Amino acid sequence: MRAALAADRATLKHLITQQRPIAGIGNGYGDEILWEARLSPFARTEALTEEAIAALHAAIQGVLRRGVEENRAEFSDALPIREPIALYRVHHHGGEPCPRWGDVIRFVAYAERETYYCPTCQAQGKVFADRRLSRLLR
Ligand SMILES: [Zn+2]
Repeated sequence: MRAALAADRATLKHLITQQRPIAGIGNGYGDEILWEARLSPFARTEALTEEAIAALHAAIQGVLRRGVEENRAEFSDALPIREPIALYRVHHHGGEPCPRWGDVIRFVAYAERETYYCPTCQAQGKVFADRRLSRLLR
């Protein structure tokens, strides 16, 4: 995992959702994993500490395992027709309190998809500019 992260210079959100070298994580669970690991979606993959890589690895396994269990309990054997937003902690929960500390979940449009994150948990309080929104306000 360390080698994969270092070899592919990208932001963390992009790397874990691009289906290579890690397959199976979509936009929604990508946000859930980064929130769980307390890592910024815009962290550079080549600059991650050993501690961050360990947190990411644990969060991928933990969040996906919990996701499978929760989706199975909610939808039994059927695949959900819509994205299971109620099962997410942060994805599609912009404007709501972070389940961990009560900061407000923010979102930015990035690579034509929305990324949700908690500034306090994941970015040392930094609120990232939403370039799409800035363009509309200009
Ligand atoms: Zn938080």
